[in-house]
Amino acid sequence: MTRFDAIIIGAGQAGPSLARRLTAAGMTVAFVERHRFGGTCVNTGCMPTKTLVASAYAAHLARRATEYGVVIPGGSSAVGIDMKTVKARADAVIAKASGGVEKSLRENDKCTVFHTHARFESHDTVRAGDALLQAPRIFVNVGGRAIVPDFPGVRDVPFLTNTSILGLEAVPKHLVVVGGSYIGLEFAQMFRRFGAAVTVVEKAPRVIAREDEDISLAVRDVFEREGIAVRTAAECIALAPHADGVMVSLDCRDGEPAAVGSHVLLAVGRQPNTADLGLDKAGVRTDDKGYIQVDDHLATNVPGIWALGDCNGRGAFTHTAYNDFEIVAANLIDGEQRSVADRVPGYALYIDPPLGRVGMTESQARASGRRILIATRPMTRVGRAVEKGETLGMMKVVADADSKKILGAAILGTGGDEAIHGILDVMNTGATYPELQWAVPIHPTVSELIPTLLGDMRPA
Ligand SMILES: Cc1cc2nc3c(=O)[nH]c(=O)nc-3n(C[C@H](O)[C@H](O)[C@H](O)COP(=O)(O)OP(=O)(O)OC[C@H]3O[C@@H](n4cnc5c(N)ncnc54)[C@H](O)[C@@H]3O)c2cc1C
Repeated sequence: MTRFDAIIIGAGQAGPSLARRLTAAGMTVAFVERHRFGGTCVNTGCMPTKTLVASAYAAHLARRATEYGVVIPGGSSAVGIDMKTVKARADAVIAKASGGVEKSLRENDKCTVFHTHARFESHDTVRAGDALLQAPRIFVNVGGRAIVPDFPGVRDVPFLTNTSILGLEAVPKHLVVVGGSYIGLEFAQMFRRFGAAVTVVEKAPRVIAREDEDISLAVRDVFEREGIAVRTAAECIALAPHADGVMVSLDCRDGEPAAVGSHVLLAVGRQPNTADLGLDKAGVRTDDKGYIQVDDHLATNVPGIWALGDCNGRGAFTHTAYNDFEIVAANLIDGEQRSVADRVPGYALYIDPPLGRVGMTESQARASGRRILIATRPMTRVGRAVEKGETLGMMKVVADADSKKILGAAILGTGGDEAIHGILDVMNTGATYPELQWAVPIHPTVSELIPTLLGDMRPA
């Protein structure tokens, strides 16, 4: 049995930073990672996908080159994709980031790295391969993985997940993406731009069904303009082998009863990596989906055990996992009282144009019973978008009519993932929207229209 001041399980988005803070505060740390350092975001999530999105955008712009007066000999049909180079570019970005995380942990004198699976033996003891580790503080940062749904026939066909699709070295002839939410939509558009025929199949009546209907319909419009087939309300999905690949049977209200793809990507949600962690031996409570239950300080029901990142179900993003680290470190090391309940939720969907989101949707704001104000603006009325020739999408802000605080916003448009921070930051400070109207934004930007938009606020 080797004793440490702390054990961290999982080198995702919270663990490595926490190790740095704890060791800087003088503690010894045992760090256990079973697979690739950097976790999902670095190896199979944000970093590879955003690298691939950049390649897809380059292809898209090249095909539109003549609109900008740029001449490509042979025209847009001469634009091709070298998928091996596209993949190599993503692999290089991953390798650098993952290697950097591993190096920083291994070079830390106070941190001992175990590259193996970790499993609780009791509330303060963890088995890491042959080693038995003990510590009064244990931090669980084990993340999640793709759900493989129990669709009829799923075990009879080859299918891709967000991990295996990154291994493709050739563009599929026809990619059927099952799941019209954030992960599925990013892959759908990028592979369409790489030259695949793409069909998106979604069980709900519309894609990204958690978003407002106007945003969801605008995203569908973007996809259909690019020739992506979108099949919604597919209530009974079944998979079967087919001479051309895989047949995905649908039970949609409209359209063909099946889609046949050379490849099928399953992107129907994520689940936490908690089933093989021995949580029962430690007495740590999970919910019925396996997410570790935590309080607003990210402490579990067992004193001395915290859960950070996707595995606690309080966030599903890299920035929320990182913020979990910030909360735990501030409370344990800096004597603060930070709470996850104070977090203003924000995220982006990295299709093109991107969707930047913060706070409530309009429908959530309405359901909250507040008197609300709303302003919207199409991207066709945003100068920067017009100048760039990228005018699809819209901006929308929702505020509380009484407190004048912004409740939420969506910017689906060029630069929307960046411009949304103007609103996110104001929401974090707790300022009212009229205060933001006095800002003098830089011209020409997408952000400059935010004060103008706020001037258009109307009761809804
Ligand atoms: C395709 C895709 C695209 C995404 N894009 C974005 C994006 O653009 N922006 C964004 O904010 N988020 C994005 N996400 C989500 C983001 O990747 C996750 O929210 C984030 O990685 C969660 O970090 P984490 O620290 O909770 O866990 P993870 O990053 O999943 O890390 C958990 C680590 O724990 C290890 N582990 C698990 N069990 C054990 C065990 N028993 N013993 C030892 N080690 C263990 C795993 O090997 C892993 O390395 C994306 C996700 C996917 C799948």
